[in-house]
Amino acid sequence: MQYPVFEHFHSFQGEGVHMGRSAFFIRLAGCPLHCPWCDSAGTWSRDAVPAAKKMTEEELAALAVSSHADFVVITGGEPTIHDLVPLTTALRARALRIHLETCGAFPIVPAFDWVTLSPKRKKLPLAENWAKADELKFIITDADELAFWEHCFNAAALAQPFPQCWLHPEWSRAGDPALLALIADFVRSRGFPWRAGWQIHKLYNAR
Ligand code: SF4
Repeated sequence: MQYPVFEHFHSFQGEGVHMGRSAFFIRLAGCPLHCPWCDSAGTWSRDAVPAAKKMTEEELAALAVSSHADFVVITGGEPTIHDLVPLTTALRARALRIHLETCGAFPIVPAFDWVTLSPKRKKLPLAENWAKADELKFIITDADELAFWEHCFNAAALAQPFPQCWLHPEWSRAGDPALLALIADFVRSRGFPWRAGWQIHKLYNAR
């Protein structure tokens, strides 16, 4: 299969439970959601992105295994708009662990070793995808956004307990002391499973 690859690179995971670990990233082009603060807007078009190029699952798997990274992260864009079965099959054939970063609005197929679910208001996760998440990540812009996601979380958590639930300041506002205080106060008052998050790869000027 030919995948529209926006970029691939060997770096480290900059957020979540696996923060700081060596990771090979495959960023696929294409996302129909168009969140207003998206920091990957260049990936939205699966066809017209100049940097996107077509690569087969075998080409991608060969690069991933040669990186000797701890695991592979399939991200985007929104990777689940693509058929990920050929790609994950090729990665598994090389005994690579596979992580997925997704908004959860489309079917998550096949199974992954780790799923980071970052819901977006433009298209909420499918009901069955909440249960597939190993960690949740909510992007917080203000108090209204935080209240909205707490409500969604409480509704979803009726069906399953979540081990990790990260609150990330939307990056362009991450220097706003009021936003950081909002998240800090929320985590202090609620406790488990809420956690204050950060994107440390941006502090390192890494991708
Ligand atoms: S779902 Fe992700 S990639 Fe798509 S527009 Fe929103 S933030 Fe950007």
